Amino acid sequence: DTNDVKAFVEPYLIGGASDELNQNLAAMAESFAVTDDKIRDIIKEFHRSMHAGLAKDDPEVLPMIPTFVNRRPTGKETGRFLALDLGGTNLRACQVELRGDTTYDLVQQKFTITQEAKESRLWDFIAECVGIFLEEHDLRPPEGRRTIPCGFTFSFPIFQTGIASGNLSMWNKGFTVPNSVGRDVVNLTQSAFQRHHVPVEIVAVVNDTVGTLMTSAYSFPDTQMGIIFGTGTNAAYWEDLARVGKWAGGPGGEMVVNLEWGAFDNATRVLPYTMHDNKLNRKSSNPGLQVYEKMISGLFLGEVARNAILALVDQRLLFAGRSSVILNKSYTFDTAYMSEIVADESPDLDAVRTVLEATLELPPTTLVDRQAVRNVCTMIGARGVRLSAAAMSAVLLNRPELLAASVSVGIDGSMYQFYPNFERDLYCVSRVFLGADFVDNRLKLHLAKDGSGVGAAIVAMTVEQERVAAAA
Ligand code: BGC
Ligand code: MG
Repeated sequence: DTNDVKAFVEPYLIGGASDELNQNLAAMAESFAVTDDKIRDIIKEFHRSMHAGLAKDDPEVLPMIPTFVNRRPTGKETGRFLALDLGGTNLRACQVELRGDTTYDLVQQKFTITQEAKESRLWDFIAECVGIFLEEHDLRPPEGRRTIPCGFTFSFPIFQTGIASGNLSMWNKGFTVPNSVGRDVVNLTQSAFQRHHVPVEIVAVVNDTVGTLMTSAYSFPDTQMGIIFGTGTNAAYWEDLARVGKWAGGPGGEMVVNLEWGAFDNATRVLPYTMHDNKLNRKSSNPGLQVYEKMISGLFLGEVARNAILALVDQRLLFAGRSSVILNKSYTFDTAYMSEIVADESPDLDAVRTVLEATLELPPTTLVDRQAVRNVCTMIGARGVRLSAAAMSAVLLNRPELLAASVSVGIDGSMYQFYPNFERDLYCVSRVFLGADFVDNRLKLHLAKDGSGVGAAIVAMTVEQERVAAAA
């Protein structure tokens, strides 16, 4: 019974462990529990915040950013486009060929974003990578043009002022590049292209969730929503412009709205924060912001788990009270390790042992140590999935008329792809709030792999078509 706290505690007690360890695991499990009733409260607050955000910009509620994307792809789009995808971890340069039959080809090169780029010279870093990509793939402007048109996927919040312009509202996911907040990210990138003689023109800038939505829609026309469950988390969906009170542009129709749901609950307190969440939040590069993201996404889950594990170590309940140099450092417990640990079902928990002893260089562990670590990771991951399902359900329930027909949701990101049983659990938790009939028979979650880049190319294509049509 997922509405009873007991159901969140019992699975984590360890036969043969000390009472003290079990009591601590029980208290911890209770603090990470999110009951069905709690999720109902969260959905209610989510709706209040969505509606307030659609009415006007207000830092206390969800940003609900109109994206200027107002045409659904048909799947018949054709042509070759350059796309750039700036994520929280990688920069991808892609050449996308839309084949016009709902399929596409993709040639891409991935560059890991350096710490230096995250902290200072991001725009030059982007220009250098694009320069390398053009050279290695021998790409030149098409006949009769001086630049290659490009769709830019930007995975940070920007207040869009047009399809190819938007001012950075803030950094997150650990980025701190100075002199950028409040400025137009397309201008900043375009100036770097000029400095580095890169013949590329950004014709569209889209959030990664918008890219994911467009990619999924290219193959599945009933796509209503794009979600990223990755380094960060966020979603975009189609909204009826009549319901977007703050939209000052042209008349009716629909538009993709970028929720920036990582910011949910920044100003309210409905989420079940634990001391481990508060510690992470306080020490982060953006304290008090993106608090929802910090409970859900890949950049943070490992750090929440590290804090929780250390709390048990400090009480001498794990590893005989000893930590390691590595485990003592912030952000060393990757969410990828969590995935390996949670996935380990071997009797001796050998994969858990490898992570703890070989990777994190902890002293030899006991089976109880490993079980306890696995249980801590599992409860934190489970909370993440339940909160993820809460947000997805809230957005779909916001347009209940959609639930009568089939609905596709395009999803990308490392949590969705690699966290054990993430998709299965997302379906399972959503059933409670969206109804079993809808979830079992009409809801389709699709992996839109590398969708954010492809989606930017699709939007760039629409922009170019409109440009050609306007010129004719
Ligand atoms: C950003 C969003 C982005 C999401 C997923 C968040 O940190 O604010 O703009 O869509 O991460 O990458
Ligand atoms: Mg990405």
